[in-house]
Order: sequence, then structure tokens, then C-alpha cells
Amino acid sequence: MRLTRYFLPVLKETPSEAQIASHRYMLRAGMIKQASAGIYSWLPLGFKVLKRIEQIVHEEQARAGHLAMLMPTIQSADLWQESGRYNAYGPEMLRIRDRHDRDMLFTPTAEELITDIFRGHVSSYKDLPLTMYQIQWKFRDEIRPRFGVMRGREFYMKDGYNFDLTKEDALHAYNRHLVSYLRTYERMGLQAIPMRAESGPIGGDDTHEFLVLADTGESGVFYDSEITDLRFGDRDIDYTDMAQCQAVLEEFTSRYARTDDTHDEAVFHERVPEARRREARGIEVGQIFYFGTKYSEPLGATVQDRDGNQVPVHMGSHGIGVSRLVSAIIEASHDDNGIIWPEGVTPFHCGIVNLKQGDDEADAACEALYASLTALGLEPLYDDRKERAGGKFATMDLIGLPWRITVGPRGLKNGVVELTSRRSGESEELPPEQAVERIAAIYAGL
Ligand code: ATP
Ligand code: MG
Repeated sequence: MRLTRYFLPVLKETPSEAQIASHRYMLRAGMIKQASAGIYSWLPLGFKVLKRIEQIVHEEQARAGHLAMLMPTIQSADLWQESGRYNAYGPEMLRIRDRHDRDMLFTPTAEELITDIFRGHVSSYKDLPLTMYQIQWKFRDEIRPRFGVMRGREFYMKDGYNFDLTKEDALHAYNRHLVSYLRTYERMGLQAIPMRAESGPIGGDDTHEFLVLADTGESGVFYDSEITDLRFGDRDIDYTDMAQCQAVLEEFTSRYARTDDTHDEAVFHERVPEARRREARGIEVGQIFYFGTKYSEPLGATVQDRDGNQVPVHMGSHGIGVSRLVSAIIEASHDDNGIIWPEGVTPFHCGIVNLKQGDDEADAACEALYASLTALGLEPLYDDRKERAGGKFATMDLIGLPWRITVGPRGLKNGVVELTSRRSGESEELPPEQAVERIAAIYAGL
């Protein structure tokens, strides 16, 4: 993409309504624009990051054997009356009346609708286990939407639902999700902490939240300082293997505790020596639930078991805050000059800065770099504006592309360009072909 052809409405001034870094930078980098309180348009740069995150979620769901589908955002109130949540959900649910005076709602979550689909089509234990998910807009009329897309009213969420014959099978689905979420967040450059939590209006017995450490987080967490070395990496997990999933879960969950849970804190104290205990704040980027027959019983989602008895299925649900992740990643990865995208979610793989636009040699070198990167399947953002170098660097720093290639007549005389890491700020001079190879190698490993 050439910057002169792109829509990147960068703001020089810091918007006064933005209190945290991610909100400030998303507005300043022209990623989003508020449409009304807690409701945002996603401009091209922001939309690209949202789609990268969504793609990672899809790939990891497929790896765990879950099926993608899509349900409507507007639902009839009927099913919610059947489950009892229409009255219980409260003012966070946006209620709508259609022209025939029928009660409708903008869905905050979809346990009822998926259970209705299940009961209409599945009748035997032979069709289980089954896990389906969607990535779809949700609406919750939050009393205090704030921090941009971090706490919006309309937000983009992955919500998945598992159906199992027994509690044991459903708990395996729970563990499988926990493990698959760890891998999902790690691919986004995040260390997400799985922590036992409260269940809220979704209800249920077992639940874990996933927290990304950041000072602006709403939850308190104690953690083991050695946990930062714990990496999911390329472990070859067999998601159908209960024991394997359980072992990973234990490895990752035993070294954290909520600051507001005395039981967990006591366990944490038993396991982690004092010198390694740390306290921090975290942003919730996902949650998984096991809730047994809470929805299948009232909605009559039963199957015939091996002995021919009709039994309600055991269920769980699992959410990832896809739009919130855009801001959570920025909270976890930025500096005073702007965003620092992890390679896994960056909107463009690298920037190309032409220090002397209009100079034949510099222009030709930039075009050649652009062509070679594109031919390798990479997406560069070429700053081809006739602007001074300082302004171009400031824009690149703000929008946070992890790698920048700087091209100028002086370097070209010696046959080199400059490759700069956004994260470390370190630069290296090397021939253009080597810069391309280096960038290709970095992304090939992802
Ligand atoms: P919170 O406690 O932050 O209000 P929640 O526990 O009500 O969130 P869940 O029902 O667990 O939310 O939804 C799954 C995920 O969706 C959350 O982990 C979060 O990442 C995201 N999410 C929930 N509410 C919002 C919101 N208002 N804006 C953006 N993302 C949200
Ligand atoms: Mg939650």
C-alpha cells in the first residue's frame, strides 16, 4: 500500500477525551472514529488489525476442532423468555420493538439461540461432542462505556458453545478451550493469564478469565515472577487427549491468584515462595465457562444416551473479546511515540520510508523494495509522500509497524538501506535484498 493512496487520518493533537494510551493512539493513528457513545467505526488501519486478530482466532479454533458458524445480531425475545434471562439480564440488554410490536433484542451473547439450533437438529449421543462458534458483533448497553473499544457498547466477540453427553466430556471441552486460548493469545504477542473467576449473568460452576497484564487493567492479580518464562511455544498438543490438556492447564493456572479471592490467594501462597510473588493489574480478554445443564434443561436440549434415556446435554461457553484485544495489545505494547505491534497482528509487515521522494534513484530503490516484498506475499506500507523525514518517522512510530526500511540517496551511494526495529529502536545498514530477506525470515517463522 502506498500512503498517498491510503486513508490514514492521523491526528497531531492528543484527543482530550482519551484517558489511556490505547484509546489515544487508536484515535491519533486514525484506526477508529467514535460514532456515538461506546460505538465506533473501524477505519482502514484499525479494521486491518481487527481482521488479523480474527484470523488468528479462526485458525486456532479450527486447530482445536471447533466449527465456525454465524448467528444473527437481532433476536426475538421468545427464547430469552424461555430461559428466564429476558427479565434477569437487566438494563445492559438493548431491547427493540419491531413494526408488529414484537419484542426483539440486540444479542449480548447467544446461549439461547445456539441451544435452540441444537435441540432442533441433534437427538443422539452419537452426534456428540459438538463445539460451534461465531465471531459476531454484540451489544451490551454498558452504563459507562469508556477507554474507546476497550469497553464499548457494540463490540466484536468470538463466542463458542460446546455440547457434551457427560460432565466429564464437558470438562474436557473446558480444558481444551483453556489450552487453545493460551496458544491464541500467544500468537498475538500476548501473555494471557488464565485465572479462576466469577461467572456473572452467564452463570455456571467453573470459569476462568484470561488477563493481559497492563497498569490500566480493571482486575487485580498476584503472579509468580517466573511465569514470564512460561511459553506455550510450538508444543504439539493433541486436543483430543484429556490428560495432555489437563497437564498444560495445571502448569499454567497454578501460579496466579485473584487479589480479591482469599482461597486462591492461600493456594498461591502455598505454591509460590515469597520472593517470587508479584502483584499487577490485568485486562480481561476472554472467559470460558462450564455451566452444565443450565440452558439445556429449561430449553429441552436433550439427547438419547447409550441406554436409550433422554438426558439434557452438558454445555459450556467461551468468549474472546476480539475488538477489545486491539486496545489490550496496545496497552501491553507501546511507548511514548506510539504503538508497537507484535508481528502476529501488525496491519502492515513493514514500512518503507523514502527520505527524498522525487529523487530518481531513491524512488526506484523504494519501488524495487516494494515489488520484492509484495512478491513474497508481504504487505509493506510505502510512505511516498513529499514530506520531511521527521514527519515520516513520526507517522511510522505512531502507527507502530514493527520494521521500517529507510531509503535515502546517501545510503544508496554505498549500496545500502537502513532496517530499523520499532521495538528496540536499533538500526542496521544492509543491501536492500538482504533487508527483504531479513523481513521475510521474521514473518516466515510465525
Ligand atoms: P467485563 O467484565 O469486562 O464487563 P464480561 O465478563 O461481562 O466482561 P464476557 O461475557 O466474559 O464479558 O465476554 C467475553 C469477552 O468479551 C470478555 O472477556 C471481554 O474481552 C469482551 N467484552 C465483554 N464486554 C465488552 C465490552 N463492553 N467491550 C469490549 N469487549 C467486551
Ligand atoms: Mg467475562
